Amino acid sequence: MVEWQLRRRGIDDERVLAAMERVPRELFVPQHLREEAYSDAALPIGDGQTISQPYMVALISEQLALRGDERVLDVGTGSGYGAAVLAELAGEVHTIERIPKLAEWARGNLAAAGYADRVHLHVGDGTRGVPEHAPFAAIAVAAAALEAPPALYEQLELRGRMVVPVGGSKGQWLEVVVRTPEGPAVARTVSCRFVPLVAG
Ligand code: SAH
Repeated sequence: MVEWQLRRRGIDDERVLAAMERVPRELFVPQHLREEAYSDAALPIGDGQTISQPYMVALISEQLALRGDERVLDVGTGSGYGAAVLAELAGEVHTIERIPKLAEWARGNLAAAGYADRVHLHVGDGTRGVPEHAPFAAIAVAAAALEAPPALYEQLELRGRMVVPVGGSKGQWLEVVVRTPEGPAVARTVSCRFVPLVAG
């Protein structure tokens, strides 16, 4: 996976590649899909949701440019996989999921993979962020919004970065939003396809 799906497609941050190698993805997919855990695809995890494609998890992680000591927010826990990868790259990870059943499943996955102490899991509407633990140096959003949620931007540190898929059913782009004194600096990167970010 690391060699063929990530390195050859241009992921070259060695910390990200090492993190992707360390996290056991098979512990974050439903039992009957374990054999496909390392395939080049998003996989269904129930409730109409998916565990993101490995390449997208790596790309978002790379675009966040983490050094190791940051406080990070992951919006859309799903399986917990993205949060586990971020836990390998940052100091403190908060993750928030709106579907309680998925959050409970993710809690078990994170514990089985050894991340229970390093990932703080919250249940609720991630478009509002997790203000009680803000500010964050980085925010990863794993579901697509029509625009980058303003509450998340407000919870970024100065110079903090958010990576968020933006767009609807006709097309989405991964946006990197940096908080600056002059306001959001936005860069559109690759096209992508994520499940929708559902507010409320
Ligand atoms: N990072 C996940 C990807 C899961 S897919 C993984 O690695 O498995 C996106 C997830 O975002 C879904 O579980 C969906 O329920 C969740 N989601 C959608 N809208 C949300 C919101 N407003 N707040 C929190 N989670 C949300």
